[in-house]
Amino acid sequence: MSALPASGLHALNVDLHCHSTVSDGWLEPQALVLRALANGVDLLALTDHDELGGIAEAQRAALAHGLAFVAGVEISVLFAGETVHIVGLGVDPRCPTLGGGLAELRAGRDARARRIGDELARIGIGGAFEGALRFARNPTLVSRAHFARHLVASGVMPDVKTVFDHYLVRGKPGFVEHRWAALEDAVAWIRAAGGIAVVAHPARYRLSTADMGQLFDRFVAAGGEAVEVVSGAHSEDEMRRFATVARQRGLLASRASDFHGEHESAVDLGRCNPLPPDLAPVWSRLAATAAAQAAAAARAAL
Ligand code: AMP
Ligand code: MN
Ligand code: MN
Ligand code: MN
Repeated sequence: MSALPASGLHALNVDLHCHSTVSDGWLEPQALVLRALANGVDLLALTDHDELGGIAEAQRAALAHGLAFVAGVEISVLFAGETVHIVGLGVDPRCPTLGGGLAELRAGRDARARRIGDELARIGIGGAFEGALRFARNPTLVSRAHFARHLVASGVMPDVKTVFDHYLVRGKPGFVEHRWAALEDAVAWIRAAGGIAVVAHPARYRLSTADMGQLFDRFVAAGGEAVEVVSGAHSEDEMRRFATVARQRGLLASRASDFHGEHESAVDLGRCNPLPPDLAPVWSRLAATAAAQAAAAARAAL
């Protein structure tokens, strides 16, 4: 669709990145929708890791409660030796190209999770794969977050962050190198599904300045169009840094809590800072935004 007029778009409470139990979030898709509504969200995207299985339930709940909803996904990519996440917004969940690519990624995830279990067993932590699986509502989507929750629950470490620092990041004994999707493939799958590709939380990547430049060069060349400027994973300084990147590269800007659950996430649904007013919101290009604007206008008229 063509862009909507910019007026009013910045005033909407938009949250275009969160996780349900279909990946590594704590809430079922329907509960996420209800929490978004309670927090005053006008437009919500569900973006589970490498999985579209929560979209139908979230969409049904959003429709029943009058919340404008965007079907999304967060795709794991390997770039310059680092895991990079590319969010797709406004994707058609029935697209076979996207569905097929994600199915392959999930198959790789399963093999990796078993290897993480093996690596932890070598340092004396047995049964971690089975333990992580008990925390994963979707057995095809075991994430490091599930390992972390299991190690906290079994008393190995006091909290999830400490587990990551000691066991699950590169250089630590439970870290397993993994070949995720290629950047160009992830962007192509999103575009095949009619979606907009967004670089998720760019400040989180340990990339050199040159590699970060390359990431955006290749992302744009592949047809990527947006970047998460405001993210639950960004400090204010980091937000300013990527606002500059968005301006310099003419990218659309997203606003995204990356909410996983109330005890694990710094920022709740819909509670991110506003976008800098001069940036073009990525939601100007999402079909559901018109419904969000209409609902906000109707509320204002009451
Ligand atoms: P995976 O996709 O299996 O590599 O798991 C990555 C997920 O683990 C992220 O999406 C976060 O939910 C979580 N995560 C990654 N790093 C950390 C960290 N340092 N502290 C807490 N959670 C993290
Ligand atoms: Mn996650
Ligand atoms: Mn991410
Ligand atoms: Mn995320």
